[in-house]
Amino acid sequence: MGTFLADGDVLKDEIIKLPDKIINQIAAGEVIERPSSVVKELIENSIDAKSKNIKIFISGSGRESIKVIDDGNGVNKKQLEVALERHATSKLDANNLTKISFLGFRGEALPSIASISNFLISSIKEGSRQGWELGSFFGKLGKLKPSAIKKGTSVEVRSLFKQTPARLKFLKTDRTETAMLIDIVKRHSIVNSHIAFQLYIDGVEHFNFLNHSKDSLKKRIYDVIGKEFYNNSIEIKNLRGGVSIKGLVGVPTYNKGSGRFQYIYVNGRPISDRLITGSIRGAFSDYLARNRFPVLSIFIDIDPEKLDVNVHPSKAEVRFDDEQNIRALIVGSIRKAFASEGLKASNLNSGKILDAFKNKSHLSSLSKNFDKHQNLDNNKGSVLSGSQIDDAAVSSLEFLPSGKKHELDKNYLSYPLGSAVAQIHKNYIVSQTYGGLIIVDQHAAHERIIYEEIKGAIYGNSLKSQIILMPEIIELDDLLISTLSEHIDDLKKLGLFIELNDNKSVIVTGTPGLLGEVNVQKLLKDLSENLVNENNTQSLESLLNEVCSAMACHGSVRAGRELNVNEMNALLRKMEITPNSGQCNHGRPTYVQLELSDIEKIFGRR
Ligand code: ADP
Ligand code: MG
Repeated sequence: MGTFLADGDVLKDEIIKLPDKIINQIAAGEVIERPSSVVKELIENSIDAKSKNIKIFISGSGRESIKVIDDGNGVNKKQLEVALERHATSKLDANNLTKISFLGFRGEALPSIASISNFLISSIKEGSRQGWELGSFFGKLGKLKPSAIKKGTSVEVRSLFKQTPARLKFLKTDRTETAMLIDIVKRHSIVNSHIAFQLYIDGVEHFNFLNHSKDSLKKRIYDVIGKEFYNNSIEIKNLRGGVSIKGLVGVPTYNKGSGRFQYIYVNGRPISDRLITGSIRGAFSDYLARNRFPVLSIFIDIDPEKLDVNVHPSKAEVRFDDEQNIRALIVGSIRKAFASEGLKASNLNSGKILDAFKNKSHLSSLSKNFDKHQNLDNNKGSVLSGSQIDDAAVSSLEFLPSGKKHELDKNYLSYPLGSAVAQIHKNYIVSQTYGGLIIVDQHAAHERIIYEEIKGAIYGNSLKSQIILMPEIIELDDLLISTLSEHIDDLKKLGLFIELNDNKSVIVTGTPGLLGEVNVQKLLKDLSENLVNENNTQSLESLLNEVCSAMACHGSVRAGRELNVNEMNALLRKMEITPNSGQCNHGRPTYVQLELSDIEKIFGRR
């Protein structure tokens, strides 16, 4: 018989209980991953202690020192000693794990942190005259001593992970660790808008979120996520199956390259949960390209008995009893909000235009450009020989203004998108309203209109199929074939008629009429591959939407088509009644608006 022991290993012949110090260090490995985990646990304790002001001091990206000072209700001498013991908590009904109203309840954080740092906690119990402090040097408890602290609790954590080098090695750069620290404080400060948060990094104040008494949540969102988000968001508020949701959701044209700016809360706890982020993605699937992410801050409240927060050591994930209801709540609330604000596109864009105007409106550069075009006109012959004009100027030749001005139809002035007056560069409709000026990207706008039409037709069951006279046999691998076969009825709704031929091929007898001539082989291949990747019924809808979007892109007026004034006004009127027409299906705006006041700003009249 072989042995699993290596040379020199000795297997003890008794089973021993691990000492507390080791147990705490092992637990710390789960709860305390990095400096930001310490910050999270400490501010959660301060929040649980009903603090009104929380100050956080960080140095050396949290490796050197993390200090959290609060003005909460504190603990007395006896409680302080117990607080550093494992699984000691003042927050739990010991017989009932389902009733959880505090952020902490496992009694793990303090002993874990104390076991892997040079740790000091000072606290004074509300109403008491004497405060106390207790230190721990990498798990070795010190003695309780009187402290001069006047209010609340202060915890300082120094040299974190210094004696657990494996952890230290695992940390990211100072910059990344600091960014994570800032993020965690921001996340907590949004949902705890009644508490003032001050963060100092290496002695410098990083932010100071004040305590606003009125409208505190919205003001805090403004302070934390920023003015741009606030001005480009829509409020949601809804109730479904006993679960409530509220918050601010950014319009699709205000999007980001990552999901980092989604602030999601369940029962006051910041979480990152796949069910929720997946539902958000679903709600936006119509408005955003796959690699773009909305910005939002949403608050879900649910009976704690219908929720398990105890599935993850740092409680960052939760489990819902009724996932279907949560998904429907999120998707429904967001879509409803957008449907009622159909035309709203990000006003960021008018800001961008203003900046563009400001940067370019120097007289010198204007005259330079003018000269350049003069040269082009005067020297058409020599341009091609490239003797005196640079490449950029040559390539811009084809973009020389192709504008056409039209008579203003006053009847349309009061419409949201106004009255078309010109088409420039064969793609941009310029339109005048009572209050300003609008520029429409005709291709993007048309794409959205067609897309919504196709969708409307699908859900109204009226998408026409174009029968193929000579049915095509398409060969695909068996996984793709079997996946397609599961969705034959759904595809029929799209106007795509397929029949199974054998294990290796299908026969296509009709394609969506809207598509006109299509490459059937390519369509089926893309479609079935998508279906394999999105193998559940929930995302079939988003898949259909994706297919519609691809079709819309092919079917819409390409940039570069000249439109007459009637066609332009017709497009504007159609945009006004089309849902979500403020952005194309990739999340780009379809139009921008400049108020008269913006225009006045450009000319320095304001
Ligand atoms: P938990 O938060 O899960 O109860 P912790 O280890 O984080 O466990 O804290 C242990 C106990 O110490 C808490 O239950 C609480 O009684 C006390 N405590 C910790 N930090 C504070 C604080 N800032 N203010 C008041 N009490 C605190
Ligand atoms: Mg805690």
